[in-house]
Amino acid sequence: MITVKNLKKSFGELEVLKKIDCEINKGECIVVIGPSGSGKSTFLRCLNRLEEPTGGQIIFDGTDILDKGTDINKIRQKLGMVFQHFNLFNHLNVMDNLTLAPVKQKLMSEADAKKKAVELLKRVGLEEKAENYPAQLSGGQKQRVAIVRSLMMDPKAILFDEPTSALDPEMVGEVLDTMKELAKQGMTMVVVTHEMGFAREVADRVIFMSDGYITEEGTPEEIFDHPKMERTQAFLRAVT
Ligand code: ADP
Ligand code: MG
Repeated sequence: MITVKNLKKSFGELEVLKKIDCEINKGECIVVIGPSGSGKSTFLRCLNRLEEPTGGQIIFDGTDILDKGTDINKIRQKLGMVFQHFNLFNHLNVMDNLTLAPVKQKLMSEADAKKKAVELLKRVGLEEKAENYPAQLSGGQKQRVAIVRSLMMDPKAILFDEPTSALDPEMVGEVLDTMKELAKQGMTMVVVTHEMGFAREVADRVIFMSDGYITEEGTPEEIFDHPKMERTQAFLRAVT
């Protein structure tokens, strides 16, 4: 689904991604872990060109996303992204947050978009919140709405950048459960998270990033129970 070759990203003199190579297969849930500042967010943001890579190649579902001729908005419809801080429109209610993009981009009629939004809200247990504004929702509910917003586009993959890091502890579980459900249904997912329990249970593969490289990757068992690199071991000792 996603092939990354020799990906590089610098901010001025700062080389954040030095050489990233990876393959993300259809239906896989990949969890990305690593120290703060190791480039995890930059990596995700390069995948849908919220950051412009300095070099390398990214193929998403057969399309070279760095090609000048590629319509990046089309790509972003099919490659959803969920952020730490939800990024909902606070002046719009839940229903309008969900229907805005697909209607504006003429992908659906307003009636169809509303119907789809209701179905998806039901799936995450939020059908009663359609008329509420973001300020009237808990953090966990806001994040589930943000996930539903990306699902409105029938994405082929979704990128999650620390989706539970801004939540009160009691709301982390409901968001992880929603993500677990998506993974179970076969959604292709790349998830940056510090939730090691989620990684262990849901990830097909865990990627450890440090110093601008993927320095270790493997199954959850390999990474959590038998990490090979000292860098990985030290990180896991610090977070678990
Ligand atoms: P992580 O998500 O792993 O914590 P980031 O990808 O956010 O790491 O950041 C990696 C490094 O790149 C950090 O040193 C950060 O300060 C730097 N960085 C990120 N975005 C920018 C930017 N827009 N301009 C300059 N430096 C940035
Ligand atoms: Mg980050």
